[in-house]
Parts: sequence; structure tokens; C-alpha cells
Amino acid sequence: MIRAELRIDLAAIVANYRTLAARAVAAQCAAMLKADAYGLGMAAVAPVLAGAGCKVFFVATPEEGRALRTVLREAEIYVMTGYQVELREVYRAYRLRPVLNTLAEIEAWRDGPAAVYVDTGMNRLGLEAAEIEALLSDRGKIRFEVAILMSHLACADEPDHPMNKRQLARFREITDRLKSLPAFKTAALSLANSAGIFLGPDYHFDLVRPGIALYGGNPFADRLNPMANVVEVHGRILQIRAVAAGECVGYGATFTATRPSRIAIVDVGYADGYLRAFSNKGRALIAGQRVPVAGRISMDFLALDVTDIAPGQAEVGTAVNLLGGGLSLDEAAAASGLSCYELLTLLGRRYNRVYLNG
Ligand SMILES: *Cc1c(COP(=O)(O)O)cnc(C)c1O
Repeated sequence: MIRAELRIDLAAIVANYRTLAARAVAAQCAAMLKADAYGLGMAAVAPVLAGAGCKVFFVATPEEGRALRTVLREAEIYVMTGYQVELREVYRAYRLRPVLNTLAEIEAWRDGPAAVYVDTGMNRLGLEAAEIEALLSDRGKIRFEVAILMSHLACADEPDHPMNKRQLARFREITDRLKSLPAFKTAALSLANSAGIFLGPDYHFDLVRPGIALYGGNPFADRLNPMANVVEVHGRILQIRAVAAGECVGYGATFTATRPSRIAIVDVGYADGYLRAFSNKGRALIAGQRVPVAGRISMDFLALDVTDIAPGQAEVGTAVNLLGGGLSLDEAAAASGLSCYELLTLLGRRYNRVYLNG
């Protein structure tokens, strides 16, 4: 290894897609590719998912949709940030379908099938109750076929949270009523993200929309992760230094050696998504042993206290595992206070990216 490496196991993504599709066997399984496939690289990830049978994809922005269209000629691509008339040509040229979030967007759209997003209690995007009533009372407004009628769960990663049942009931009530409108007759109903899939068949409807679980993230807040690990980050030791008791390490001098120590400087920093939240808190794996981060993470480097590792096993050039492999996303999330969503989307472009099993 010549420098820090981000390894992305494409076969593990396929395995996770199959696991999720099997869990929601009565529904179609779409895939979330927003934020460049949660930071893992849409151009590499999308064809692999398409090869596994995925036909429906969601992205956040028209730009992401355009990039995805150049990779997948046939797929249905939905853009979640809605529609403005200024974007008409982009939507047309790249055959993108908007997820329409407001009545104004519904009225503006006339270029083919689209998704309609209704709010069921999360109060992020989606039609409000009054807008749904307006749709129901004025039957002429919709000039397109609603291909997907969707909402989103706020607390699905906590299976016992009362919000889940409340949102499910609200979704049923809204969809039953909207289905009376001709434009909604054949709409596929969709409620579940990754965690929603594990809430059981009541939540699956016609289409499920996993993201994080495809990429190895834990769909549960406090249960063991059932997904295959996808991402590994390995740094390289650039220098080993002897630090005497009483000396300090790094910016701000936030680590002081309490014994004669060996400190390894590694070529990963916050510019690689290993944020300062890991300062004095992160753990790395060297030869199967956990070692602590010493001091503050800097932009390009971090320091590890390798005093307890046999000198032959931590030398200049040794690879250290910072994420994935033996160090789960959950463990890194707990150490840093970041979510596994943040850990993945922060990874950035600087690593030597290696796609495995493509
Ligand atoms: C991000 C997102 C998903 C996927 O959520 P995960 O928790 O990553 O599975 C599904 N639906 C919507 C609307 C989203 O924004």
C-alpha cells in the first residue's frame, strides 16, 4: 500500500441488495444513490445494483440524476429535491422524474410520470394535509401519471417507536383517499427506507427504498448490524516517533504521554472525512489489536499511540485499519458521535479508491 486506501466491496453491496429484496419480497426494491451513493461512488455502484436487478433509483439533485443517466441508460431515475420550471430541459434531456413535494410543483409538472411525496408526520418535505385536501377537491390539477406515491419514516431505526405505527396509519389513510383520483390509480406505494424494511411486511407496500443498509450501515439504532460490511479505510504509517513521558502530541497539545511512548503518524486526516470528532477518541486496528488516537486529528494526518504494539508490527509503511474490516461503522460512530450516514458521506475524493469484486 503506497497511501491511504478506501476499499469498497461491490459484491457486498449486491449481497445487501439481495438481503433487502428478499426481506421485502412482495415489493420492488429500489436503491438510494443520493450524495454519490452515500459517498461510495455512484458510477461504480449503480451498474452493480442494476446488474442485481434494481430498476428504480433515487438521487437528491438534478445534477446527480444527470450523472446517473450517463451510467444507466434504462433505469427509472427519481430526483428528490422536486421541480422548478427552470429545470424542465434537464429533466427532459436526461429522462429524470421528479419527486414532487408541493402543490405548486404538482401544478408545474407536465412531462410524464413522476412521484408524489406526502408528509405523514416527519415534517421535512412532502404535501401537507391542506394540500392533500386541495388535490382531492380539485380533480383537474394533475396532468401526469403518478408513478410512485411515497412518504418517509422518521424513526424506523427504533422499531418500538410509536411514530412508526402513527405514520403507517396516516400513510394508509392518505393513500386510500388519493387512490380515488384517476392520476393515482396505478401509483406504486412506497414508505420504507432501510430500517423500514425491517419493520415487517406492513411497511413494504409496492416499493422499498433502502440506502444506508446497501452500503453496510446498520439499519437499527441499537441492535446488531445484519448487513455485510462494504467499506474499509486503511491508512499508512508515515513515521514512528519516540515520545517521552510528559511530552505532548498534535495541535492544541491535547494529548500528553504518561509513559515513554511510540506514536505513529498516519496519512489520514479530517480532509479525508476522519473528523476532529475522533480526536483522542478514535480507535485503529493494527495486527488485530486496537490502538487509540493520540491528540487532535489534523487535516492530513492523525497520530496513534502504538506503544503497546510489538515494534515489528507497527513500522513505517504498515497499513492501519481505521474503518470497516474489524472496526465496524457502529464502533466508529459511537467513538466519534457521528452517524454511519455521516461517516460514509464524509469519505471524500482523496483516498486511493479500490473497488473490489466488481
Ligand atoms: C435517504 C432516503 C431514503 C433511504 O434511507 P436509508 O435510511 O439510507 O435507507 C429513503 N427515502 C427517502 C425519502 C430518503 O431521503
